[in-house]
Amino acid sequence: MATSYNEELLRCIKFFCVDLCGFFSKIFGMEKSQDGLCPCGSGKNYGACCRLCHEGELAKSAEALMRSRYSAYAKGIVDYILKTTHPDHPDAKRPEDVRRKEIEEFCHTTIFKGLKILDVQEGETKGVVKFTAYLYMDGKDFSFTEKSTFEKVLGKWLYLKGELAP
Ligand SMILES: [Zn+2]
Repeated sequence: MATSYNEELLRCIKFFCVDLCGFFSKIFGMEKSQDGLCPCGSGKNYGACCRLCHEGELAKSAEALMRSRYSAYAKGIVDYILKTTHPDHPDAKRPEDVRRKEIEEFCHTTIFKGLKILDVQEGETKGVVKFTAYLYMDGKDFSFTEKSTFEKVLGKWLYLKGELAP
């Protein structure tokens, strides 16, 4: 009697485990496919990369902020662009609703093909990142190389200025 009860119990546990494993792998697989690779080109899933910043985690370096801003453009997360722009950046002096519209328009009309980081200089409170952003608009190549300067203000990395680089 005891054996058959144990066998039955084992069968139930096995059944439950297999089911549960399938269930989790389905969820994980789904999550993974919805997530996709991060636009910043890190090779990581978006959920394990720039999405953390987009959902409130602080960028740990100037490079991380640069990457997360590129991904925010690619995903049309306008708020993130606005809130990670340094108050001393010339754009920050212009009305926010105008800038918001411009960024939205830019995000919608641009195809973000990829990002290549060329050079990184990380300091305690200042960082410079040189990158090429591969962009297409109306079937035309609008890729550019920029040297961006970032400053850490009250613990947060912000985009201070950018200059086009050859
Ligand atoms: Zn990323």
